[in-house]
Amino acid sequence: MAGKASKRVYVFDTTLRDGEQSPGASMNLTEKLEAARALELLGVDIIEAGFPITSPDDFEAVRAISREVRRPTVAGLARCVAKDIDRAAEAVRDAKKPRIHVFLGTSPIHRKHQLRKTKRQVMRMSIESVERAKAATRDVQFSPMDATRTEPDFLVEVVEAVIDAGATTVNIPDTVGWAIPDEFGRLIEHLFENVSNITKAVIAVHCHDDLGLSVASTLAAIKAGVRQAECTINGIGERAGNAAMEEIVMALKTRPDDFGGCWTNIRTERLYAASRLVSRITGLVVARNKAVVGENAFAHESGIHADGYLKERTTFEIMDPKAVGVAKSKLVLGKHSGRHQFRRRLKELGFRLSAEQIDKLFFGPFKELADRKKEIFDEDLEAIVESEVLAVPETWRLCGIQVATGTGGMPTATVELQENGKKEPVRDAATGDGPVDAIFRAMERITGVRLSLRDYQLRAVTGGKEAQGEARLEAVCGKQTVSGRGVSTDILEASAKAYLSAINRAVSRPGAAKRARRRHEAAAKRKKPKPGKAKRSSR
Ligand SMILES: [Zn+2]
Repeated sequence: MAGKASKRVYVFDTTLRDGEQSPGASMNLTEKLEAARALELLGVDIIEAGFPITSPDDFEAVRAISREVRRPTVAGLARCVAKDIDRAAEAVRDAKKPRIHVFLGTSPIHRKHQLRKTKRQVMRMSIESVERAKAATRDVQFSPMDATRTEPDFLVEVVEAVIDAGATTVNIPDTVGWAIPDEFGRLIEHLFENVSNITKAVIAVHCHDDLGLSVASTLAAIKAGVRQAECTINGIGERAGNAAMEEIVMALKTRPDDFGGCWTNIRTERLYAASRLVSRITGLVVARNKAVVGENAFAHESGIHADGYLKERTTFEIMDPKAVGVAKSKLVLGKHSGRHQFRRRLKELGFRLSAEQIDKLFFGPFKELADRKKEIFDEDLEAIVESEVLAVPETWRLCGIQVATGTGGMPTATVELQENGKKEPVRDAATGDGPVDAIFRAMERITGVRLSLRDYQLRAVTGGKEAQGEARLEAVCGKQTVSGRGVSTDILEASAKAYLSAINRAVSRPGAAKRARRRHEAAAKRKKPKPGKAKRSSR
């Protein structure tokens, strides 16, 4: 039991549930398992793995993670509805430490508009749901959604009632990012003063970043006695996101005296690797100036700062980059590096690969890259692993592209793709607004998958003129948002790979491939092919 007296703060990670709900961040099963393993290595206490009732994919992910990780508790989310709770119970059943997390809106605005229920009805639903969950697992968490806009005295009543009903953790969420830190701290104090049975449960908070205050509010709540912090890696989540785990954890570690010696079990030297992994699999880029894990977080540019830093690190640096896992050594490998060095560096970067996978990467993409590029950096290695191991199923594979372009001309791309299981590759050509657009249009013609592009970015992964270029994009396919990423020393090839990975991601969803194929075949029937006269489709 973690009352106020205990100094241990449990870390509840919701990257795979709230984080995945951020636009463009959807992950497939392989990616979620990869992330869950990284969270376990990081020392996370509770992994919220998903919201099982929402889709068969979500259910499968929660079940697979429950079977995979052993040390952390695995939580499944459920509304206060019987079928939600039963589904969540089924999904976490195989976990070593299962938890069901039920939530219900308690604020006047949620009661009136979302639920159309009275205070008494909300109270009854909360109690009955906790009891139902409790029949399935010992460990039950309850969240009064929109707690920060709920009448404080009603909140006291609800918290007391759900603890009586058997909730072992009660989370006080700032669902809409409304709270101001000191006010939030006072609300938590109010609960500790007025909920008679509060020591029987762990009190948690879950803060959103709509006003950029989520981490500050979380820390204020910890000062007031909260012992479970809900958060995500890189602060991803609904709208402006959640409180960032790396920021909460490092604040406690850097200023322990200010938090009464509160501590977490997070292995902070793994934070950077976890941040990179989540960024890679979600396609959500970490801002350069992001606290703790941003590219510039430990860079010193101005003369005075750099000078001071060189004389004594602590003049301008309050955290040791090594403490969060940022490697200072930049150059790692080259053409003459052996397989042993390659394997060791990948291990240091936090990848857990089989001997077979390492061989495949070393003799394939690593050797190829070493021929094209003298110096191979950590980012290059991550790019290799990302594109080869963590990739989505390769329904379509890129065989080749050829692009003709110039000023005032008409950019034209010829693309050759091979579909999984088919003997012959398919070739088609298209024109576009530019060479990249022409490549995308040609791929659309071959695969029959229409993506509408929301965001497209190109950047150099590493320095120097032989740097690898990385293309990232976000697109909408039907109702789903998909992201894609591609890396190559050629930026057109990187863009082509990114677009194709988004297509593969779109068709990897159950039923999606069939639908795309039907659309494609229907379209092929409608228009007679005119050889040599590829038409640009508008978007
Ligand atoms: Zn949330």
